[in-house]
Amino acid sequence: MVMTGSPPPSDRPAHRPGALLSRFWPVLVTLVAVGIAICGFVSLRDPSPSATVEETELELVIAEYDPPPPPTADEFQLQQSEPTEPEAPTNDRYELALQLKRGDTIEKMLGDIGVPEADREQIAEKFELLLKKNKLVTGETITLSLQTLSEQPDAPRVLSLLVRPQPEREYSITRDEDGSYSGEIKTYKVSPRIVRVTTVRAGSLQESGIRAGAPAAAMGEFIKALSYDVDFQRELKSGQQFTVLLEQHVTSDGRVIHPGRLLAGQLELAKRTVTVIAFQPSGSARQFFTPDGKSVVRSFLRTPMDASRISSRFGVRRHPILGFSAMHAGVDFAAPLGTPILAAGAGKVTRAGYYGGYGLYVKLAHTADIGTAYGHMSRLGPGIKPGVSVRQGQVIGFVGSTGMSTGPHLHYEFHRGGKPVNPLIQRFAMHAKLSGRNMVNFLALVRQYLVQLKKAPQVR
Ligand SMILES: [Zn+2]
Repeated sequence: MVMTGSPPPSDRPAHRPGALLSRFWPVLVTLVAVGIAICGFVSLRDPSPSATVEETELELVIAEYDPPPPPTADEFQLQQSEPTEPEAPTNDRYELALQLKRGDTIEKMLGDIGVPEADREQIAEKFELLLKKNKLVTGETITLSLQTLSEQPDAPRVLSLLVRPQPEREYSITRDEDGSYSGEIKTYKVSPRIVRVTTVRAGSLQESGIRAGAPAAAMGEFIKALSYDVDFQRELKSGQQFTVLLEQHVTSDGRVIHPGRLLAGQLELAKRTVTVIAFQPSGSARQFFTPDGKSVVRSFLRTPMDASRISSRFGVRRHPILGFSAMHAGVDFAAPLGTPILAAGAGKVTRAGYYGGYGLYVKLAHTADIGTAYGHMSRLGPGIKPGVSVRQGQVIGFVGSTGMSTGPHLHYEFHRGGKPVNPLIQRFAMHAKLSGRNMVNFLALVRQYLVQLKKAPQVR
């Protein structure tokens, strides 16, 4: 059956998606730190408005600069025809963003910054009418456009008041030329927009993607979808190009509500390009497929260990102990003594104990047709005995050198129809594949995505 010469220590440290994600933590921490720094900056009190501000509970916030959407043709006409007010020099105008405190009303808020009573009553009344039953929440930002008048420098005139409680809805009150105020509700249509991030790997895949504008969640999904096929340790190199195709949700004035759900991704490796496509088959959860409709998730693990090196392949070889050529019915993975051995797939334990030259041995039945077997263990995994069910990836034992073996390694067999076959080539037959209507819909989507992976507008 089994056994190799002296097994060198593993040269292959564990490298799973989890490990990649954990590398991303420093970036997250930095982002949060930067976020806090920015918040700290914006909430500094604006020193310019009048002293009354200091006595109130209102927090004055410098308005974030938010460029207005480009005017539509109609709006442009309107702007062109508008007469410019000669008595309103622009330097008397300023913007203020106030945050609604607990118990605040619009009227109180305006009173706190010295807006004349007649104006603030009118504004508050119009605003109530506009808002109807909707309530503003504490912390809501009210953006004011104000004008200082020379005859009453402590009582600013409100030119407009804007609140946008949801990205798709904006309430505004505007001062008309006759000094009265009118209200308006603007609704912004939210629609999906397909964009892509194409960049080159520098550092981890996750960090490279985020740096180029891809959301962390989408990168995480992309890496997980790749991990079934790509050997990150050996195949991933700096400078390799990758693209993620994202679906953002954007308001008609260009506000991104959702930074992007992963639709598809493509990674250029030295010798091949790996493409993953997200798809939701009818009656099933959204998942990732190869462009020919095979699930990226394999029914069986590629190697039943995290850290290992193939030390002897399947097939006829010269037997290291018996000395003559014989069939090697499995694959040997050299790994340090005590390395956990994982169930290659979900199944049932049919054998767990000493078994001749195999030493301490576990056999799993996955389907009526397919089984896997593991030899030379030093000990069994917790609770492993005939009849129990195991999950994929569950520890079923630990690497040892029991039975006919020259050093610690795992002898791993894959059985189909009761006969041992080469485990390393089985994975190709193990993907679930789309069929029927699902396949037709999927292939149409693939055609679209493959073009968009190259031509969709880039993020930023
Ligand atoms: Zn072997």
